[in-house]
Amino acid sequence: MTLIIDNLQHIQKSIQMACQRAGREVSDVTIIAVTKQVSTERAIEALNAGLSHLGENRPEGLLEKHETIENRATWHYIGSMQTRKVRKVIDQIDYLHSLDRISLAEEINKRVNHTVNCFVQVNVSGEESKHGLTPEEVPTFIEQLSNYPHIRVVGLMTMAPNTEDKELIRSVFKKLKKLQLEIASKGYEYAPCTELSMGMSNDYEIAIEEGATFVRIGTALVGSERRDSNEGER
Ligand SMILES: *Cc1c(COP(=O)(O)O)cnc(C)c1O
Repeated sequence: MTLIIDNLQHIQKSIQMACQRAGREVSDVTIIAVTKQVSTERAIEALNAGLSHLGENRPEGLLEKHETIENRATWHYIGSMQTRKVRKVIDQIDYLHSLDRISLAEEINKRVNHTVNCFVQVNVSGEESKHGLTPEEVPTFIEQLSNYPHIRVVGLMTMAPNTEDKELIRSVFKKLKKLQLEIASKGYEYAPCTELSMGMSNDYEIAIEEGATFVRIGTALVGSERRDSNEGER
């Protein structure tokens, strides 16, 4: 496998150019290294390359790596979260990218005594295989989250459709940005909603042009060693 430091150099250059095209600051974009398909050793290589945000999509993967790496990384949970798994992982997570139902907010609120930074996951493309609320549901959902004092809505998250159609991908990111601004304008203290988690290996440049502040990059950055690791998303 290629060295992470070399992949990172290439990605940083692409991010720089995307930021330039969009008139944005590079420092406004955080790279999350998605390590769900690689070993703890490879995750440590990512840290040594200068990355500090790691993303996992299964409780097992998160706990295994967290045991070794602990607070040397900022931990992002990017997979769909089962209610019964919350208790096992919630104290190890800095950001949850997949808040998509009130019952999950309720469980999280019950299990912590600190504030949990959450992204509300939105299914902008409407694909049935994807998790998340419809854009129409989001404003009311976020209003309801005021009942759960440990939940802080830092932003919105989406996954673009898996397609070659770049304009379709762009339209999805544009819609999420519009929705984020709409929520942010309400001035909720518990839901500043300033962040946008969007963009993966194949579409992070478009995502940045459309306002992403967190990009979640796996394959292009750390590669992939495992075949079974997408299971946790379903
Ligand atoms: C796996 C995954 C990623 C990273 O995907 P790559 O295409 O490997 O960059 C990003 N976000 C989510 C939610 C994922 O499950």
